[in-house]
Amino acid sequence: MYKLLTEMFPYNRSITGDGVRETLNRISKEIPIKETCIKSGTKVFDWTVPNEWNVNSAKIFNSKGDVIVDFADNNLFLMSYSSPINDTMSLQELKTHIITDSTRPDWVPYSTSYYEDKWAFCLPYNFVKEMVDDNYKVEIDATKIAGDLIYAEAFIDNGSNKEILISSYICHPSMANDSLSGVVLTVQLYKELKNSNLGYNYRFLFTPETIGTICFLFNNRDKIKSNLEYGLVATCVGDAGGFTYKKARNKEADINRIVDYIFSESNAKTKVVNFSPFGSDERQYCSPGFDLDVGVLTRSMYSCFPEYHTSADNLQFVSEENLTESLQMYLKIIYAYEINCKFYRRNPFCEPQMGKYNMYRTTGGGGEDTLNTEVQQRMWILNYADGKTDLLTIAKESGYSLEDLKRVLDSLIDIGLIIKESN
Ligand code: ZN
Repeated sequence: MYKLLTEMFPYNRSITGDGVRETLNRISKEIPIKETCIKSGTKVFDWTVPNEWNVNSAKIFNSKGDVIVDFADNNLFLMSYSSPINDTMSLQELKTHIITDSTRPDWVPYSTSYYEDKWAFCLPYNFVKEMVDDNYKVEIDATKIAGDLIYAEAFIDNGSNKEILISSYICHPSMANDSLSGVVLTVQLYKELKNSNLGYNYRFLFTPETIGTICFLFNNRDKIKSNLEYGLVATCVGDAGGFTYKKARNKEADINRIVDYIFSESNAKTKVVNFSPFGSDERQYCSPGFDLDVGVLTRSMYSCFPEYHTSADNLQFVSEENLTESLQMYLKIIYAYEINCKFYRRNPFCEPQMGKYNMYRTTGGGGEDTLNTEVQQRMWILNYADGKTDLLTIAKESGYSLEDLKRVLDSLIDIGLIIKESN
């Protein structure tokens, strides 16, 4: 994952343009994806897809002709969607087009202006402080013309009518944790889940944040409402912080309960926060018209780490080790959700006479303790097999793990005492 992240890190991503194409092209070398193009000017709900933005070069020269700022050195230097300009101006005037962050004075802040025609350079506060009075030549060779917004999907069809969505965004330029770590984790999740024997279908989305997600939801509005079981927005998964889960807006969402459970079983540092209408693409998924069960699973939550939206969110800020830990956490949640189910007894009146089915004995070795445990687990399941209680509830009530209970449940299904509700 880190290698792929390193390779894609320098691309000049934005919500449209060649950086997005390059990114999707690179992802398509890893996994099969289907791209969807939406023309500039297309109306999607209350939004209009903007023109496509591309940059050839962007520089600031001093009066001696020295290049003092060059987009080629760091694409964060140029505010995303900056308009073209070729002009000479005083420091005072130039400063009205410079964005700095005095609270993080040595870092380049990340800034965008997708829907207003502006241009700006984003520079470290301490660099700007040292700039002397001079006539500066500004050259931004960029285009904003009709083109396409592109998003892409990978899909694993397990023959279910319900699907799980892993949503990542591909619009941030050279930042490693915000956006890109989620992209490489999503690619790896596809690879891990492709040949697993799973019940739900899985969709993996690579889309420009907000407008791209709105396009995806617009194109799939009926299907996604009826098909989506749950979703996770994958971002900020490469840093060393503990895990944070932001709940889906629907408080009853099963995914909220599953993550809670997995976190409680984990040795990692974890935190659960309630839904709020700020942040990433959960804002669209959880909007009232959709109200989908989509949460966000990060390590340090976006906007809660000092490096966020600056040049310090760089390749040193993330690691393969952290990405792998995050991948394992995603997989645990995904597998737990797969295991969880509701079930009912074929004959629900009183207990079955378990000896009749040879259900007081274990098949393998194990001493008396094992035998007792299995019998107890069977009794928990048989008693709660009411078609309403799910395995997760029994795990929490009984203290037995979801995996152990699943094994016992399967044995009871095998001998025909229990019938599983279909998903
Ligand atoms: Zn961001």
